[in-house]
Amino acid sequence: MGKSTGFVYHEQFAWHDSGNWAGFLPPGFPLQPGMHVEHPETKRRFKNLLDASGFIDELIILKPSMASDEDILRFHTEDYLKSVKKLSAETGGDAGELTQVGLGSFEIAKLAAGGVINATESVLSGDIDNAYVLARPPGHHAEADMGRGFCIFGNIVIAVKHAQACLGVGRVAVVDWDVHHGNGTETAFYDDPNVLTISAHQDNWYPPERGLVADDGIGEGKGFSINLPLPPGSGVGAYESAFDRVVVPALESFKPEIIFVGSGFDSSAFDPLGRMMMHSKGYASLTRKLMKAADELCGGRLVMAHEGGYSPSYVPFCGLAVLEALADKKSCVEDPFLGFAEGMAGQDLQPHQDDLIALVERHIGQYLKIS
Ligand code: ZN
Repeated sequence: MGKSTGFVYHEQFAWHDSGNWAGFLPPGFPLQPGMHVEHPETKRRFKNLLDASGFIDELIILKPSMASDEDILRFHTEDYLKSVKKLSAETGGDAGELTQVGLGSFEIAKLAAGGVINATESVLSGDIDNAYVLARPPGHHAEADMGRGFCIFGNIVIAVKHAQACLGVGRVAVVDWDVHHGNGTETAFYDDPNVLTISAHQDNWYPPERGLVADDGIGEGKGFSINLPLPPGSGVGAYESAFDRVVVPALESFKPEIIFVGSGFDSSAFDPLGRMMMHSKGYASLTRKLMKAADELCGGRLVMAHEGGYSPSYVPFCGLAVLEALADKKSCVEDPFLGFAEGMAGQDLQPHQDDLIALVERHIGQYLKIS
């Protein structure tokens, strides 16, 4: 009964200092210094709810260890690695675009990437069935030569490349439900037919002009990047439909050996950085769809890594619901916000959302079954 689910967290993840920014912009007139929207509490409160509810006892605790320079350099450039190291040791500052590096953030970012590697190793060895890495800083916006969107190192990209280089893995799928486009992950594997990337995100939000339906890979990788730019206001109906009609069929066609998930809870109804309407029950539903696909395709091997999610009060309930689904066990907690989110108008699939999903279905139809 139940699954054996690994969980990775380290208090140092919360010690990454994102500074006194004003929301997601650096302070300076007219922006009063305040609190960075990517602050520790959104993640720490997730871990705290696991502790307070006792659900932590249902999980296998995995200790993260730092990714090596060699691991980081399978994706990032040497110049970028050096620049993050220098910023972290000397002054702090921006690693590229909207990506604060605090004093000591280099080692913490290596620990976050290493945590995803540790989880991947445990899942591939069969020690556990699946895993969730509550990583911070997040990773999916980081490009090879610069940090972007609060992301210093590409945590999932680094773990995928480690698995391929060191653990004998060939075909990998990465599904990203963060409200923002998974640009870093997509770019890393844009010409690679061995890694299928699927990003379901809010249409043209961040980064701008990324994640279009037509962005579907290049060269040998043509058809192995899939984008679902869902309209703002999409709720659980749109997400479930997108997973049933695009994500799961694409996985079935691709037949990955392991599935990674970029798990951002900023697609929730209460998030300050997104305009979508997902809720805890919706994330659990998407998790079960991916688990079913993983059971059929790759022995259930599923590794989730935390990305965005900026509502300190709501992220914990989304996280707990996903972990309950992964472990196939229930905690004693009911999401106290769920009724409000479920009651929002437009939670069912709306016609304009249906049109977009149908467009993506037609677009990827030309590639499915060819691999
Ligand atoms: Zn995000």
